[in-house]
Amino acid sequence: MKHKFSPISSVEIIADPMPCMTQLIQDKIVALEARGSEDAFCVCDVGDVVKKYRAWKELLPRVEPFYACKCNTDEVVVKTLADLGAGFDCASKGEISLILKQGVPPERIIYANPCKQKSFIKYAAKHNVDMMTFDNEMELVKIKEVYPNAKLVLRILPTSQVKVQCQLGNKFGCHPTNVSKLVAKAKELELDVMGISFHCGSGVQEARAFSLAVKQAYDAWQICVQMGFNMTLLDIGGGFPGQKSAPISFPEIATILNDALDTYFPPEKGVRIISEPGRYFVASAYTLAANIIAKRTVSRDSSDADGCSEVTKNDEPSHMYYVNDGVYGSFNCILYDHAHAEAHVFSDSPLRFTSSVWGPTCDGLDCIIKECRLPEMEVGQWMYFPDMGAYTIAAGSTFNGMPRPSINYICSQDIWDEIYPEHCSAKRRCESVSSEMDYPSMMAAGPDVMSLRHAANSISCIEDELVLA
Ligand SMILES: *Cc1c(COP(=O)(O)O)cnc(C)c1O
Repeated sequence: MKHKFSPISSVEIIADPMPCMTQLIQDKIVALEARGSEDAFCVCDVGDVVKKYRAWKELLPRVEPFYACKCNTDEVVVKTLADLGAGFDCASKGEISLILKQGVPPERIIYANPCKQKSFIKYAAKHNVDMMTFDNEMELVKIKEVYPNAKLVLRILPTSQVKVQCQLGNKFGCHPTNVSKLVAKAKELELDVMGISFHCGSGVQEARAFSLAVKQAYDAWQICVQMGFNMTLLDIGGGFPGQKSAPISFPEIATILNDALDTYFPPEKGVRIISEPGRYFVASAYTLAANIIAKRTVSRDSSDADGCSEVTKNDEPSHMYYVNDGVYGSFNCILYDHAHAEAHVFSDSPLRFTSSVWGPTCDGLDCIIKECRLPEMEVGQWMYFPDMGAYTIAAGSTFNGMPRPSINYICSQDIWDEIYPEHCSAKRRCESVSSEMDYPSMMAAGPDVMSLRHAANSISCIEDELVLA
């Protein structure tokens, strides 16, 4: 007999008030160590994703978010956003299939990759995912051949020079001077161009990037209208910041963006406006904890340090810490996304030492933090890193045989009950099953109790399914 488990059944519901993330991480560490494990792990706060969705609805009420799932394809995150009503930006057959599997209707998917594999377009056609972007003539020829009824969205290249974390203009987007020629080709092929899109770049660092791009989208829109296309959709792409420490805040962007949208695409025009936020939804939801597996202390100024036992500013040692996740794993964001990791430790010591943090592989490139100030730590202790949800686990490898971190999903009771009100009774049953086995002691008790808990969870999963159906 086959059981279909709902991914959200793996979420641990935490009674309010929910403890702070530092406390939650510490609790997980206690449970893990009791089991004899020192493996790196993540805590994913599903409630944080929900809060982001709500903030979006409040601050950008005219814009429907289509989550760019390449950022983090975690099924719990995807399912949560799907249940909240979000749409999805997919870039491949695999991503489209993942989203359809969550029960998302094809109208809530945009195939937002301007350069698509032909068989993937066929797959989109077969599943009625008809909205897709293009930015070159050859793509139009290909689409004409395999999906002539597709609803096409022209991706333009935002040309203003603004700061972004990852530039994309070298790869995608139709330059404004080429718009006329390209849409003329679409007309000639009798294709249905119905929208304009842009993507300012990943991790936008100046809010005016969006207002300038909206103006440019308007210009391209006018060209399409003059050519006789029935234009109905504006797609403002992604790039919205996902963590508090970002150079600009989401509310700042929203203010400037709402102004630009009201100027160029006022509500009475009835244009459907969508966006493709990725990091915005997931960056701050994940905190990664890694174990210090090795340590090396190097003297910063060995001649001065000679015979000196007290730490002074000049002769303090510097510590190199090796932790069990690195740039080949979750910290690939440092290489690919130009991200900066921030190490936190559990320590009461007021002393800080120059430190560096390294990943576990044998490659010298595997450096997480070149230099930071940390209290002295020992092998076996833990570090944790906030804002680890975007472009982290999605592209992490197991190079050198290093495992990927496990993920612990949590959500505060209040938020969970609000998003799944019809679910409350089933979930409470699930809780009563697991609370009979107090969490840390259950972990300590070994595999038998573990499999019991697993079985108990499976029962509640089936209940989840029933209640959802
Ligand atoms: C990656 C990508 C996004 C998401 O970017 P974020 O910075 O994560 O918001 C959106 N649209 C397109 C076309 C992308 O390639």
